[in-house]
Amino acid sequence: MIERSVVNKIKRIVGEENVYSELEERICYSYDATNERYLPDLVVFPANAPEISEIFKIANHKGFPVIPRGAGSGFSGGSLPVEGGLVLCMARFNRILSIDSENLIAFVEPGVITGHFQKEVEKQGLFYPPDPASLSFSTIGGNVAECAGGPKAIKYGVTKDYVIGLEVVLPTSEIISTGVQTVKGVVGYDLTKLMVGSEGTLGIITRIIVKLLPKPESKKTIMGIYPKLDDAAKTVSDIIASKIVPAALEFMDQNSIVCVEDFLGIGLPIDADAILLIEVDGDCDIVNKEASKIQQICLTNKADRVEIAEDKESEENLWRARRAISPSLYKVSPSKINEDITVPRSKIPDILRTINGIAKRYSLKIVNFGHAGDGNIHVNIMIDKNSEQEVDRANKAVKEIFQATLDLGGTLSGEHGIGITKAPYINMELGDLGVQVMKKIKQIFDPNNILNPGKIFQG
Ligand SMILES: Cc1cc2nc3c(=O)[nH]c(=O)nc-3n(C[C@H](O)[C@H](O)[C@H](O)COP(=O)(O)OP(=O)(O)OC[C@H]3O[C@@H](n4cnc5c(N)ncnc54)[C@H](O)[C@@H]3O)c2cc1C
Repeated sequence: MIERSVVNKIKRIVGEENVYSELEERICYSYDATNERYLPDLVVFPANAPEISEIFKIANHKGFPVIPRGAGSGFSGGSLPVEGGLVLCMARFNRILSIDSENLIAFVEPGVITGHFQKEVEKQGLFYPPDPASLSFSTIGGNVAECAGGPKAIKYGVTKDYVIGLEVVLPTSEIISTGVQTVKGVVGYDLTKLMVGSEGTLGIITRIIVKLLPKPESKKTIMGIYPKLDDAAKTVSDIIASKIVPAALEFMDQNSIVCVEDFLGIGLPIDADAILLIEVDGDCDIVNKEASKIQQICLTNKADRVEIAEDKESEENLWRARRAISPSLYKVSPSKINEDITVPRSKIPDILRTINGIAKRYSLKIVNFGHAGDGNIHVNIMIDKNSEQEVDRANKAVKEIFQATLDLGGTLSGEHGIGITKAPYINMELGDLGVQVMKKIKQIFDPNNILNPGKIFQG
């Protein structure tokens, strides 16, 4: 509980209309895409860094948690107030401050929706590549805090590859600037990189400087349909080996194809073992050449059918199926455990075989899809949360999948972060010493542990 006198003090800082304290208001900020629920004591919408700094002074003095929140679309529970406290919603930080086409950089506030930012940048012939499937509703601040990635990671990298500077309010209430506005910069430790992916546990990001690229001249999407998963996997290796780096290389397994078809009814081949969606971009001539080379590689690897989208509409149709996977899964089951393991891309067939074996052994329905080009697989274990037995089997399966991932040289999370859902498992990857070092860093930034407690680390 936050005392009434403290609530009044916070109202004086941010304005009464920017503080939600009624139950029905707080419920709206009690969940994210994990579907877990934790009720905050207060929801506050600050407008600038000094206001956040004042709130931190009070939080340190009174000892209540502060939890940053973007759009609440996270898949690992990062924005959930697991110990109650004050949810700091960044929605009013919603301005694109400048797009500098001479220096190929932009200054943007964290509450801006990523897709909106991309469109504005593209109007100037520029390109901000990080493209999480949630880009039409997630915020760029949430993307930075999670180091979000998307299909374009294979060619263009992820959020951390574009963030060059930040303004951050530390939990001890100081406001700092990190990084540079220049292409180069090596002064001191790289605090910008430390902040990116820190899941709102080290500071509140209030301004972001990103680098931009020139917008590619053209792009083309190719879809390959495979009776056998191994042939799709071989296609992936052959494309890379042929020295083409696609802008995206996505796959759907049979379970995902069935789910999407059931959801959209667009005539996907439900008996196919796998679908690959491949995008190439760049100079017009090169794009045409690469698209036909990829078509040939797909056919050589026994694809049943290969389609090249010839216009914007058919391209959008091909990507519609990929984007519909996540929502279509809710039709199969209202609850799921959603992991985003990543393995070296050559190991995709091995990990998929292992996951299918685990699914059979534990009698679970597991749907796999994701970014074949960078080895990031979204493993969705469909469960009935009310069945204790099924939840128990699913948890055992998760641990085995994580161990198999690490044995293949992979990592537990490619983009969704640790939050609360993967916190019990991080020692498997980092070891006790690695976790201890990270906890010491957290302690330096946040000695009273008031910023987003209970995330990343257990206990
Ligand atoms: C349908 C769907 C598809 C998705 N697809 C992808 C995908 O392709 N790739 C991917 O990477 N993710 C994906 N996600 C997950 C999610 O959208 C991303 O993690 C996204 O970056 C979260 O942004 P958000 O604004 O919703 O942040 P929130 O969920 O509100 O917060 C996420 C974390 O960031 C912290 N945070 C938010 N704002 C700030 C700030 N200003 N300063 C400090 N910390 C802050 C929060 O405390 C929390 O720890 C998907 C989610 C959904 C529901």
